Amino acid sequence: MYKFLAGLSLTLPVQALTIQVDYRFDTEGFFDAPGAKEAIEAAASRWGRIINQNLLAVNIQDDARNDVRFAPIHPATGKQIQMSAAASAGSDFLVEVGAPAADIYLDGFELAEDTWILFVGGRNMDDLGAAGPIGLGTNFDGVDTDPESLVNRGFNSGPDSLSVLGGSAAFSVNANWNFDLNDPSGAGGIDFYSIALHEIGHAFGLCSRSSPKWIELSSSGTYQGEAAISAFNADNVEVGEPMEVMLVNALELENPNGRDYHWKTGAQKSKIFQFGQPSRFGVVGSDELQPLLMDANLNLNAQYPRLEITNVEVGGLIDLGWSIISEDPPPPPELPLALERSVNGGIKLSLPTKVGSTYTIQTTTDGVSWLNVEPSITGDGETLNWEDGQEGFVDPNGNAIDLSGKFYRVIEN
Ligand SMILES: [Zn+2]
Repeated sequence: MYKFLAGLSLTLPVQALTIQVDYRFDTEGFFDAPGAKEAIEAAASRWGRIINQNLLAVNIQDDARNDVRFAPIHPATGKQIQMSAAASAGSDFLVEVGAPAADIYLDGFELAEDTWILFVGGRNMDDLGAAGPIGLGTNFDGVDTDPESLVNRGFNSGPDSLSVLGGSAAFSVNANWNFDLNDPSGAGGIDFYSIALHEIGHAFGLCSRSSPKWIELSSSGTYQGEAAISAFNADNVEVGEPMEVMLVNALELENPNGRDYHWKTGAQKSKIFQFGQPSRFGVVGSDELQPLLMDANLNLNAQYPRLEITNVEVGGLIDLGWSIISEDPPPPPELPLALERSVNGGIKLSLPTKVGSTYTIQTTTDGVSWLNVEPSITGDGETLNWEDGQEGFVDPNGNAIDLSGKFYRVIEN
C-alpha cells in the first residue's frame, strides 16, 4: 500500500542577491563537462545567499550622446574587452568622437534589480583560476562617478566604487577537476566548488588588485580592514584564554611588496560563515577552523577536501562596502497542499496557485532522493489539480499504484 506525505514546503534556498552566470564567453566549452554548470551555479548561489546588497535594475540602451561601455576580462582569452551598449560601431557615439570601436556591441544591456552578472569560461592557464570585477570601459569612469548614474545601481559611486554590474571568472582547461558537489574527494580531482568560491570572491573585489578599496586597506603585506580583523579575532581567541593570546590588529597578505593581495597561505584560519546555507559536504563543520578561502594557494587535501567561505572573507566584503546577511531568513511558509486518493487508486494533489509562480511536483520512493515530474506548471491564480499518471506529464518514479511507498512535494518559485 502506498503512503503519501502532505503539506510540504518550499525547499529552495532563499537568494539575497541573484548572481546570473553567463556562459557567452565559454568558447572552449569548459562548462560542457558534466556537472560543471551545476557546480559554478552552486558556488555563485552560495555567495548570493550571503550578500544582500540592494541593486537597482540596469537598462542601458544605444544613446546619441553617452554610449556606455564596460570592460570585463574575456574568460577564454584573459584579455580585457570593451562591451558597448550601442547597437553597432556606426551608432556608437564614442566612435563618432574618435575612440576605437568596442569589441562587442550589445544593442542595449539590462540587468534585473538585485542581479549581478558573472561571465565565466575556461582557458589554458598556469593557475587553476583567475577572476576579477568587471572593469571600467572607455567612458565608464565618467558615469561610474556620477551618483545619479544607472550603473551605480543606487549603491555607490566615486573612485572606490565596487563593481556593481558583475565580474568574470576563468578556470584552467588542463586541471583534473572534480565537479561532484556531494563528494569533494571522491573522484580524486580538485574540488571545483572550492576554487569557484575563491574566484567569485575575487570578482566581488576580495583580495583583488583590481579593487581600489582592497588596495587602500592593504599595505606592506598586511590588511587593515576592521571587519575582517575582528572576525579573525572572534574565531581565534577563546573567551577566558590567557592574556598572552594577543588580538591581531592586521591580517597577513601573501606578498609584502604588495603585488599579491591574497591572504598569506596557511598563516590564518577562520570558521565557516554559518548563515546562507554553506555546503555540508567535505567541509570541517560549523565550529572548526579551516584555512582561509582566499589564501594565495588553496591546499585541498584529506583534512580539507573542500573549503567554504569563512567569517574573515565575509568581513572582507563588509570592509569593501557590501551589505551582508546577519541571520538566516525565516523559513518559507508551507504550501497548502492537499493530497487524496484518485478514482483510479493513485494520488490526486491540489494546490491554490499564484499568477506567474512556477510549481514543480517532486516525487520520491525513499524520502531522500527527490525527482522532478516534468514539466513544471505555471500558476494562473486558480487551483492546480494533478493526478499521478496524468497524461502529458513524465513521472520518473512511475505510478503510485504500482509502488509500496511514494511521497510527494511541490516546490514553488
Ligand atoms: Zn586567487
